[in-house]
Amino acid sequence: MHSDVVKLITQLRREGRRTERKNLIGAWTERDRLNGEVVDSFVIILRTSGCKWAKISGCSMCGYYNDTSPEISEDDLMNQIREAKSRYRGEKLVKIYTSGSFLDDNEVPARVQEEILREFSSAERVIVESRPEFVNKDKIEFLRGFGNVMVALGLESANDKTLIFRINKGFLVRHYVKAATRLNEAKIPVKTYILLKPPFMSEGEAILEAVKSIEFASQYSEQISLNPMNIQRNTLVEYLWSRGEYRPPWLWSVVEVLERTHGAGEIVSYPTAGGTKRGAHNCGKCDDRVLKAIYEYSWHQDLSYLQDLDCKCRELWRRIVKYGPYLWDYSAEWQG
Ligand code: SF4
Ligand SMILES: [Zn+2]
Repeated sequence: MHSDVVKLITQLRREGRRTERKNLIGAWTERDRLNGEVVDSFVIILRTSGCKWAKISGCSMCGYYNDTSPEISEDDLMNQIREAKSRYRGEKLVKIYTSGSFLDDNEVPARVQEEILREFSSAERVIVESRPEFVNKDKIEFLRGFGNVMVALGLESANDKTLIFRINKGFLVRHYVKAATRLNEAKIPVKTYILLKPPFMSEGEAILEAVKSIEFASQYSEQISLNPMNIQRNTLVEYLWSRGEYRPPWLWSVVEVLERTHGAGEIVSYPTAGGTKRGAHNCGKCDDRVLKAIYEYSWHQDLSYLQDLDCKCRELWRRIVKYGPYLWDYSAEWQG
């Protein structure tokens, strides 16, 4: 059964169109939190040859593969960086995203990693993402040389069963712990992503697992980003969603997790596609208001933004959390 699911993930990914474009996917400015302050951050999304794991198999929710290109050269990557740099206005925080792992030399050659980090050495902080297997001793030494780099690790869940059977993550919790501990020992700050509502899980189970996962990851992390599921193209999650067998989490669930983990560390959440059918959403009437409160909470870490929020749909959400796995069929009627 599990191997059939993995086969389906791989097949859907292959159906995804790989683009032959070699340009930068995007660069923009957005607000974020840095050292207790709300600052402008500069986001760069590099087009690379893609995540090593996605080439072999891939995670059940990840559609980044759709934006990769097999023929990307060092020169293409350097051109993308030059283009991004031309749009940089000295923001204190720089976030560099690839479609996989910045620290994987096969995806971003070591020379390019160095050039990129040197280009942004004046920023107060630069965040790069990586799978844990690329956080080795050499990379730690390399990153220490810059002094402003934070590494973001996508743990998603602190439950190995979820990593194996629901996400097909390709690593286990202990691999995250090893990488995070190495980074902690080298005083390189860690950011951890926790996924809210992997597939094959009820709304209530998803809330509980996200809370536990955040509590676990907070031991190793300066900041945790709670990422509610969003439906990306050519993924297993899209396959389930299009058949009415999966609904992204409610924004009320995001609020619930943030409230329950308040004080467990710096927890932020900026729901991708929030308020739309493909992202975390409520009834449609309260989504903007609740999303705004989630953003304000993330920026200021102040619980008062989450209080006094209400809507008729909150009672329905409460019943789904309480009875969903026992008394309700996952039918379109209440999936909203
Ligand atoms: S979620 Fe990360 S590790 Fe998983 S396939 Fe996507 S880029 Fe690779
Ligand atoms: Zn509502």
